Amino acid sequence: MERLKIAVCGGGVGGMAVAIALQAQGHDVAVFEQSRAYGRVGADVNLTPNAVHALDRLGLGEALRANAARPTHRISRMWDTAEETSRLPMSAAAEERYGAPQLTIHRADILDALEAKLASGSLHLDAKVTEAELTATGAAVLFADGSRQEFDLVIGADGIHSPVRRSIFGPDAPRFTGLVSWRAVFPRDRAPGLPDLDAFTKWWGPTSDRQIVTFPLTHGTEIFVFATTPKEGWTEEGWTLPGDIAELRDAYSDFHPDARALLDACDSVTRSALHVREPMENWSQSNITLLGDAAHPMVPFMAQGACMAIEDAVVLARAVEGKTRAELPAALQAYERARIPRTAEIQRASLANEWLKGKGNADWVYGYQAWSTAIG
Ligand SMILES: Cc1cc2nc3c(=O)[nH]c(=O)nc-3n(C[C@H](O)[C@H](O)[C@H](O)COP(=O)(O)OP(=O)(O)OC[C@H]3O[C@@H](n4cnc5c(N)ncnc54)[C@H](O)[C@@H]3O)c2cc1C
Repeated sequence: MERLKIAVCGGGVGGMAVAIALQAQGHDVAVFEQSRAYGRVGADVNLTPNAVHALDRLGLGEALRANAARPTHRISRMWDTAEETSRLPMSAAAEERYGAPQLTIHRADILDALEAKLASGSLHLDAKVTEAELTATGAAVLFADGSRQEFDLVIGADGIHSPVRRSIFGPDAPRFTGLVSWRAVFPRDRAPGLPDLDAFTKWWGPTSDRQIVTFPLTHGTEIFVFATTPKEGWTEEGWTLPGDIAELRDAYSDFHPDARALLDACDSVTRSALHVREPMENWSQSNITLLGDAAHPMVPFMAQGACMAIEDAVVLARAVEGKTRAELPAALQAYERARIPRTAEIQRASLANEWLKGKGNADWVYGYQAWSTAIG
């Protein structure tokens, strides 16, 4: 086997997952992350069975389960009557049907689990990538400190504003959806008596610009709440921007008392404007490719952003397995052929925001097997 020298730009969920998968094949992989330290930034990551299955085989199962919660069901309810329009059993039923349960976890906890699995010394913090470029034999990464390093393969896992994507496909700006997303976490004992706190529940609003999603974190001792409101003209992005909880409660004052009780239990909230991009036709150029939000940012209405990045990571590593440097461009084409149709469909379905509003089948999302899907 040829030992490849690989750069992963971005040490988020997708970047670390692909690095772990490629290191397991014996490659020399470096992860370049712009942050100086991870910190406990962000709130939740939803891992449906398709992603848990992928991570289990990467050897992360035990570490994930150490801090995650395991939702009992996936429920849809109507905003005013609380009528239940869909209820899928998860947990043991999902394990039986898909080979893995759903796990919901603090973003910091999954990053910790991934970081612990990386080969020692392979994560480079405070390493801001500014550009990637093709070379005669592979690709190079340019850094904010002026340095430049050459690799056989460069992977852009650098999020929605990916400089790697810009380098190979030119500049383009994500589109503001006109929606603001709100996130909060509260201790479970603040909401005694509320039904189904151990389930993943989506409260569907009268229009698709308002919804509340809630699920357990940290073995169910904490409850996560996500909501959206329409807001033209406020387009700031970030994971630590404080929101006004009174404004959020006010926007949901016509919702069912059980939904409002979720917001009443929150004492602080963050908010971030929701941006999106259209599906792309290609993700790769020669020895440079993209994965995760760098390739296919999506609105969070199917809660599949992290799951798609994890699926990408496994399929990309499988496409590269056993290939020589000269074979990499063809391997990257095979990777994107395997992944673009699925991620584009999920980008579009997320935006349409109708999935599982009523009865429906989750198999096409949860039953995907990244370790065995065809790569051609
Ligand atoms: C700080 C943060 C908090 C988040 N919190 C939540 C949350 O609470 N809930 C939720 O559903 N989703 C959250 N997300 C988004 C979610 O994690 C991703 O949508 C999903 O996991 C896809 O992962 P990804 O690896 O493709 O992208 P990301 O998770 O966005 O990871 C991209 C990584 O690349 C790094 N990066 C970006 N530019 C550069 C550069 N120029 N050089 C080097 N590194 C770079 C970023 O710092 C980041 O670590 C968060 C993302 C971030 C970055």
